[in-house]
Amino acid sequence: MEIMWAPWRGDYIAGTADQPQQEPGGCVFCEALTAESDLDRYIIHRGKHVFVIMNLFPYNNGHLLVIPNKHISKVSLMDPETRYEMMDFLVKAEQVLGRVYHPHGVNIGANIGAAAGAGIAQHVHFHVLPRWNADSNFMTTVANTRVIPEALEVTWEKIRKAWDAENP
Ligand SMILES: [Zn+2]
Repeated sequence: MEIMWAPWRGDYIAGTADQPQQEPGGCVFCEALTAESDLDRYIIHRGKHVFVIMNLFPYNNGHLLVIPNKHISKVSLMDPETRYEMMDFLVKAEQVLGRVYHPHGVNIGANIGAAAGAGIAQHVHFHVLPRWNADSNFMTTVANTRVIPEALEVTWEKIRKAWDAENP
């Protein structure tokens, strides 16, 4: 049996899965959107309905989250404009990561609901994750630990620059 999916079981911020929070007031994604500095929260891009942010606990360098601005828990709650921009940004994220990191593959996906593995179930988010052949390495397998060679600030600067340069 080969397991290919859901490498992002870690919480965006440690411990959030234990909090029975339902209100936007306690939501890390809603809270990130209120930040004045994009670098403070590693926001890559703010769209009209959707924003793009780095995962603070990435599986690999360049692990992005694409998130509706609105605090909604399911893709079926996205209005048509949000759906359109979501897909637009997922496409762009694939392009940008391709340009910056030249991955061998990309995972794009969302876990809807805690039962499906969502760490922050109340605010739907898509993962865009660059993958390399055999990137599930020794440390991951044996110690359940990832080795991320690049600092978040460096990643942010690279991806943001490429995002702003990329034509949709
Ligand atoms: Zn939220």
